[in-house]
Amino acid sequence: MNHIAAIDRTSRPILRERGQREVFCGLTSIVWLHRKMQDAFFLVVGSRTCAHLIQSAAGVMIFAEPRFATAILEERDLAGMLDAQEELDRVVDRLLARRPDIKQLFLVGSCPSEVIKLDLSKAAQRLGAKHAPNVRILNYSGSGIETTFTQGEDACLAALVPEMPRADDDAPANLILVGSLPDIVEDQFLRLFAKLGIDNVGVLPARNAGGLPTIGPNSRYLLAQPFLGETAQALDNRGAQHIDAMFPFGAEGTSDWLTATAKAFGIDEAHVEEVIAAPRERARRAIAHHAKKLSGKRISFLPDSQLEVPLARFLAQEVGMTPIEVGTPYLHQRHLARDLDRLPDDTRISEGQDVDNQLDRVRADRPDLTVCGLGLANPLEAEGLSTKWAIELVFSPIHGFEQAGDLAELFARPLRRRDRLEV
Ligand code: SF4
Repeated sequence: MNHIAAIDRTSRPILRERGQREVFCGLTSIVWLHRKMQDAFFLVVGSRTCAHLIQSAAGVMIFAEPRFATAILEERDLAGMLDAQEELDRVVDRLLARRPDIKQLFLVGSCPSEVIKLDLSKAAQRLGAKHAPNVRILNYSGSGIETTFTQGEDACLAALVPEMPRADDDAPANLILVGSLPDIVEDQFLRLFAKLGIDNVGVLPARNAGGLPTIGPNSRYLLAQPFLGETAQALDNRGAQHIDAMFPFGAEGTSDWLTATAKAFGIDEAHVEEVIAAPRERARRAIAHHAKKLSGKRISFLPDSQLEVPLARFLAQEVGMTPIEVGTPYLHQRHLARDLDRLPDDTRISEGQDVDNQLDRVRADRPDLTVCGLGLANPLEAEGLSTKWAIELVFSPIHGFEQAGDLAELFARPLRRRDRLEV
C-alpha cells in the first residue's frame, strides 16, 4: 500500500512504496569493485544462478587469472552446515595457495548462503586468522533479498572500515574520499584536491590492500557516491566527520562538492575560485552543447541505481530538463539533502518500488525519457517511450568537471536515436 509522508529537511512529500521490485542484486557491484581493487578477489558463496549473473554482468571475459569466482553450494551443502564450512575452507586454501597475488579476499554472501544461514563472518574470521598477515579476509552480503545492486559496494566498503588504521587524536586532518570511481576520474579529483592545498587524501576503496586510509577524529570524509549509507555510518562510528555537499555531477554539483571540502579544511574562498573557475567553465560549455537537445524535455527515473536524485538535480538545474518523478530504492535524506533542495517543488519523489504502480504512473505521465532497469526498458520502448538504462550510468565515467559533457550526452543519445527512428 502507498502512503505519503513528510520529509523534515525539505517538507517535500515522499511517496513510499513497498511491492514487487525489478532490480539487480548486490553481486553486480563485483564487476566494478574487482577492477578497482587490484589485489582483491571476490569469492561468491552461492548458486549457479549467482555465477551466471556475474558472468553476464561482466560480459564475456576470458582471464588468465580471474579475480572473482563462485563457490557453488550444492544440495549436500544445504543438508549439513559442517560440510559447507569445511568445503569453503578447502576452496579458500586451494585458491590462496595457487594465487599469491591475492592480498584481500572477500567472501560474498548470496541468497542461497543466507537462506541456509551459512555464517560467512565466522568463516572470514577463521580463515583470516589462518592466512594473516599475507591475506586480509572479509565478508559481506551481495544477496538480492531486500537490496539493490549498488548496495553491494556499500556493504563491501562498510566491511573495510574496521580495517582502516587508527589515526592519533592529534594527527593532522586528513580527507577520505569514499566511493569507487574509475581511476582516471579519481586521479582528476586528487589533482584538484592537491591544487586546493589538500594533500593528505586517502581513498576508500584503496587500489591495494596496503593503501587503506587512516581514520580518527581529525578525519573528514567526502562521499563520491550517494548509495553508501552503511559505509558512512561505519565511518561516523569511527569518529570521522561527514562533509555535507551536493554530489559531484555536472559543473555545479562538482563545484559545490569541492567548495564544501575546501571549506571543511579552512581554505580561502578566493583560492578555491581560482582553482575551479577554468574547469567549471569548460564543464558548463560542454553541458551547454547538449542542453539544446535536452532543455524543456520531461524525464522520469524509476528506482534502480540510487544515483537518481543527484542526476535529476543535474538535469533540472544545469540542463533545463523537467523531472516528473524521481524514484530511488532508498532515500538517504542526510546525504541527499542539498541535491533534493534544488529539485523543482512539483517533482514527485518516490522511495522503494511497486513496479506495476510505477509503470502506470509512467504511462500516465508519458515523459520524453525514462531511466530504468534493463527489464523494464524493452516493454516501455514497445509502448513508444524512450528509455535509458540506469546501469549504464553506473558503468560510465560521469563524475566531475571533465565528464560533465559526457554525462549530458548520455541523456541526449536516446532522444537522438528516437528522432532518427521517427524520421
Ligand atoms: S544473490 Fe540472489 S538475486 Fe543475486 S544472483 Fe544469487 S540468487 Fe540471484
